Amino acid sequence: MIFHVLTIFPEFFAGPFGYGVVERARQAGVLDIRIHNLRDWTHDRHKTVDDRPFGGGEGMLLKPEPIFLAVEEILPERTGARQVILLSAQGRLFDQRMANELSGMAELLLICGRYEGVDERVAEHLADRELSIGNYVLSGGELAAAVVIDAVARLLPGVLGNEWSRVFESFEERGHGEGLLDCPQYTRPADFRGWRVPEVLLSGDHKQIRRWRRQAAQEKTARLRPDLLQSKIEDQDFNHE
Ligand code: SAH
Repeated sequence: MIFHVLTIFPEFFAGPFGYGVVERARQAGVLDIRIHNLRDWTHDRHKTVDDRPFGGGEGMLLKPEPIFLAVEEILPERTGARQVILLSAQGRLFDQRMANELSGMAELLLICGRYEGVDERVAEHLADRELSIGNYVLSGGELAAAVVIDAVARLLPGVLGNEWSRVFESFEERGHGEGLLDCPQYTRPADFRGWRVPEVLLSGDHKQIRRWRRQAAQEKTARLRPDLLQSKIEDQDFNHE
């Protein structure tokens, strides 16, 4: 899978993609991440990418021209499997289901906003999707793009050592939680500062362990993320209609 990132801070990405699973996937050739400097598509001496908002107001906006030119050159043919994503606080919320959907695509181009945002014509006439990583405002789309790429990259076939490890995870539909949180996990020592690991996990009784994990995942979800249980109930109601 190919990811393109369009940014005014290309150096930003040396860090996030240089480690662990994503780095291994790049080495293995499962994943190609190409960082593009938006200023390469400007034509004035100062390489201007921003301008003041019409109607007044604080701050600057990224201009449409360089972004349109860049996207048209980097991804000239867009299809269902080759899409342009604008990172934006106003976008649809990115979640595990969407990460799974995006992991089936061939090529994605992620546009990183900065300053007060991006001229709206990019969202209206260029991007296939406008995505937000959460209900808060970041200072730029770079961190958001890194989040999306990381979450999608680890779902690509052959990236995680064990294909089952991605099934038994928070938010995944097929794991013990069925869209809920993952169960609590423990490693050695069995007794750490007097806090003992639940006995059942040491028992070797796999049926009991499965049952415990399911229940523990449900309890933890009810405690920390009751909204997930609620949306699961709503999904079921919807499916029965
Ligand atoms: N004025 C805008 C915020 C601009 S923040 C507003 O109130 O909606 C500058 C850039 O950071 C945005 O263009 C976007 O690319 C990025 N950004 C900020 N918050 C984000 C979020 N929650 N998810 C994804 N990108 C975000």
